Amino acid sequence: MKEWKNVWILAEVSNGKMSSTAYELITAGRGLADTLGEKLCAVLLGADVKKFAQDLFDRGVDVVYVCDDLALTNYVDDIYAKTLNGMIQTYKPNKFLLPATNLGRSLSAKTAIFAGTGLTADATEVLINPEDGQLHATRPTFGGNLMATITCARTRPEMCSLRPMSYPKAAASESKTGEVIEFAFDAGKYTSLAKFLQFIKSEGEGLDLSETDVIVAGGRGLGKAEGFDLLNKLAERLGGAVAASRAPVDNGWIEYRRQIGLTGRTVKPKLYIACGISGQIQHMAGCSGADVIVAINKDPEAPIMKMAHYAVEGDLYEVIPAMLEALDK
Ligand SMILES: Cc1cc2nc3c(=O)[nH]c(=O)nc-3n(C[C@H](O)[C@H](O)[C@H](O)COP(=O)(O)OP(=O)(O)OC[C@H]3O[C@@H](n4cnc5c(N)ncnc54)[C@H](O)[C@@H]3O)c2cc1C
Repeated sequence: MKEWKNVWILAEVSNGKMSSTAYELITAGRGLADTLGEKLCAVLLGADVKKFAQDLFDRGVDVVYVCDDLALTNYVDDIYAKTLNGMIQTYKPNKFLLPATNLGRSLSAKTAIFAGTGLTADATEVLINPEDGQLHATRPTFGGNLMATITCARTRPEMCSLRPMSYPKAAASESKTGEVIEFAFDAGKYTSLAKFLQFIKSEGEGLDLSETDVIVAGGRGLGKAEGFDLLNKLAERLGGAVAASRAPVDNGWIEYRRQIGLTGRTVKPKLYIACGISGQIQHMAGCSGADVIVAINKDPEAPIMKMAHYAVEGDLYEVIPAMLEALDK
């Protein structure tokens, strides 16, 4: 076990851009590395990705492992996971954090299997147990009613995918230097039966609720799919985006990628307006980090009315038009 050293993070790159989840993982990983007295290392996988190393150094990374090859231009699970496992077996990291994004969830699971180690998926907090140096990864379980802390005692690296928005983004400071270690891609070894054909963007791709300052979310209280037209008007007026609780998603009123909560997205906007949402724990798990929560609900006893910074008691079909009128003035 002593051979395995240092804390790794995956700096995800997709469509030629480094994801800002890398900065969140730097914050989480820096804490772990400092507690252990080990180095914080980032992994860059892809084509033309070495250029991102300096940004990672500026935000506190000590070492960047780069596998830069044209064969990695497009994401293919097996190829990426086998390459990552090749890096793991060569350099033997102690802990390895990946983002719980679509790509990260898939890649972390496959890589953990190839590496023969454990993975805590979708964690919201990571800490080092000072007694034995083990990673304690905490995640909600049983529908968010319990928080479970999971360890991986007998294999290394201890792997964990961390929910986006769980940690603040590490800021860039003055230009720092670090070590770049290049890892050669092996086309004979890192293979896949699957072949990349084409990347098809889903409709409205580019919507990133995690980057939006204002979110207007609708719940079952809307009563019908058309209710979102009214929410769209308010969101547009405030320069924000529309989201939902699970009920409208289950009813087919709106697409899943707009669901906020435990089984949806976690967001931290400046303003979150919850319309016709009761505020169940599974929903609040995704939005309680908002700076300001405004609830519009007919029922003054709804749980969200106590959790919101501003609670408006009333019918959303009366309150929202009144808000739009006031905004127009
Ligand atoms: C494992 C698990 C995971 C889950 N994950 C999620 C998740 O990710 N996200 C999520 O949201 N839920 C999730 N849920 C479901 C969650 O428990 C709730 O069922 C759901 O959040 C309820 O949605 P809601 O608040 O829209 O509906 P309701 O709880 O039915 O609330 C509707 C509210 O609208 C109000 N209302 C009605 N009409 C009006 C009106 N005209 N004007 C104003 N107010 C009105 C009512 O007073 C009520 O408070 C999960 C559940 C489980 C078990």
